Amino acid sequence: MKRTTALLVVFLGVAGIANPAILLPVIGRPPMTSQDYFLCILAHETAHWATLVWAEEHGLSYDALPWLLREGLAEFTLFALSFGPHRDCVAPTLLHPVAAVWAQRGGGLADAPNELVYDVGLSLVDFLVRKYYLFGNVLRLLPSFLEDWNARLAEWEGEWREWLRGEVPLSAPVSTRLRVENAFYVISLVEPLFPDVRDVVREITAEEDVTWFWDSISGPPPTPTPDALGKLRERECVFRLAAQREGGPPEIREQAQEILARLAQHWEAGDWDAYAAAYLEAVLALLKPALSAEEMP
Ligand SMILES: [Zn+2]
Repeated sequence: MKRTTALLVVFLGVAGIANPAILLPVIGRPPMTSQDYFLCILAHETAHWATLVWAEEHGLSYDALPWLLREGLAEFTLFALSFGPHRDCVAPTLLHPVAAVWAQRGGGLADAPNELVYDVGLSLVDFLVRKYYLFGNVLRLLPSFLEDWNARLAEWEGEWREWLRGEVPLSAPVSTRLRVENAFYVISLVEPLFPDVRDVVREITAEEDVTWFWDSISGPPPTPTPDALGKLRERECVFRLAAQREGGPPEIREQAQEILARLAQHWEAGDWDAYAAAYLEAVLALLKPALSAEEMP
């Protein structure tokens, strides 16, 4: 297998490990089948692979490309395939509602929190494609942009913000808050415990009610059914990833290891209530980011 092809397999593998709920439909998008969702992930990860090939051909290191750009390019592939050329007739605030809320509340291109990197990165690439008329033009200019990337971001920011001005869809502030608080990921992890969690989220219409959502899943959880237990056990791999992640805060790694040990004990003892409580504790402690006020749009 060629190295680049092997790397595509790695990208797909990482997507699968990072998100064991990869085949579950995503909230906030039109109803999708598992196959639709799989194809979206495939398009995104294949775009990463194409970016890697492109970077190597231009003498650039893929790992050195800014994360905002890597995710923006991958999401743009999916976006262009989904919307086709008709997207030019649609207001940017409707195509990029989460990025628009972020920009309108003063958020910038360089300071997007991790949870908004995909949305803000996509909006940046779409903005550049419209600014330079063609995706191919952006690709041609990219090596020179990368020479002073931070200065470029600063130069584009005002124009990008202006481009995202105007009315956003009514649901946009709620989606933004849920996104910033990593709720969509959390939902896929707690769904076996709270089977109606997606319906609960669909009922949220005001930003303040996001707190109500967090309260509703803060426990104590119901005793899991045997079917739910199997699904929770599979999802434990997310905590293992947190326990091993290099470069992250050591206290998160330690906390993940400690909760994993407790989960193993409860599993062994067949104490399902304690297992479910420890599982929920792990989700909320490891995956719900504690954002500072400035990061919160
Ligand atoms: Zn990606």
